[in-house]
Amino acid sequence: MPAKLLDGKSLARDIRRELADEVAEFVKSHKIVPTLAAVLVGTDPASEVYVRNKRRDCKEVGIQSELYHLPESTTEGELLARIDELNQDEQVHGILVQLPVPRQIDTERVLQAINPLKDVDAFHPENVGLLVQGRPRYLPCTPHGVQQVLQRKDIPIAGQHAVIIGRSDIVGKPLSIMLAQRGLDATVTLCHSRTHDLPAVARLADILIVAIGQPNFVTADMVKPGATVIDVGINRTDDGLVGDVDFEAVREVAGHITPVPGGVGPLTRVMLLVNTLTAARLLINHESYESHE
Ligand code: NDP
Repeated sequence: MPAKLLDGKSLARDIRRELADEVAEFVKSHKIVPTLAAVLVGTDPASEVYVRNKRRDCKEVGIQSELYHLPESTTEGELLARIDELNQDEQVHGILVQLPVPRQIDTERVLQAINPLKDVDAFHPENVGLLVQGRPRYLPCTPHGVQQVLQRKDIPIAGQHAVIIGRSDIVGKPLSIMLAQRGLDATVTLCHSRTHDLPAVARLADILIVAIGQPNFVTADMVKPGATVIDVGINRTDDGLVGDVDFEAVREVAGHITPVPGGVGPLTRVMLLVNTLTAARLLINHESYESHE
């Protein structure tokens, strides 16, 4: 029997609806509209689309968004100055710098310049540290999206063996920490390009999560019958957008599977909105802001 489809698009719609209610309630109680500042440097067409989509998502749930579109020639100093202004601006709750930034700018320095309380992508070292310690301020968007699919679709996590392929700072690594955390309680194996006999390790997975950026990399023989397969990959090919999993073959073996597109992507987008509302809540929690100064 083919695997059950984990439809990220409809889940994201559900979460957006819930969030719209929460935002409306927040605005009514505090007379503050949660606001996201998106900073885009240059004219990369994919980045322009991402930012446009993020702003459209904001509008849909009642979050205000501001776009700071800076020229390709922007220097690191100019970008840092803009971030500093946004850090100081009490009307701005979340700051997002769309990556990648042009070559003359050091990404790490930029991400570290964002006030950690406004760091809705959760990339700042302070927020990464809090996540590792099990007391996250923000959950990073893609790992949070994966967690939401598993939890909302009642996929058992506790005691299960989750194998993650890909150890990037934005997906695999934080996700491994989250799933192993007390409360989620998975047993986690984190794989990468140096892992020996990857197919054998992947076959041990009750939950197999793939985030490597290699089209159709995971084949049916790498999947334990009945396993849940979460495909984070987004690859542009001549056949259109495909994931890191050979969807047609693997769906014959897996118990549950996310499609690409329409799987983790829409959930990643919605988690940014969740974090922006959290950021606005932090602002009204003066103690939290003051203790940071
Ligand atoms: P990175 O390129 O930063 O990292 C890729 C990881 O995959 C590395 O850890 C690398 O190992 C590992 N890897 C690459 N090739 C292999 C291989 N043949 N076998 C085992 N491991 C391998 O990728 P990202 O995490 O940024 O992105 C991964 C994919 O997820 C991309 O397709 C990206 O577009 C997509 N993505 C999707 C999102 C969504 O919302 N759905 C959000 C973010 C990313 P090593 O460390 O050893 O080099």
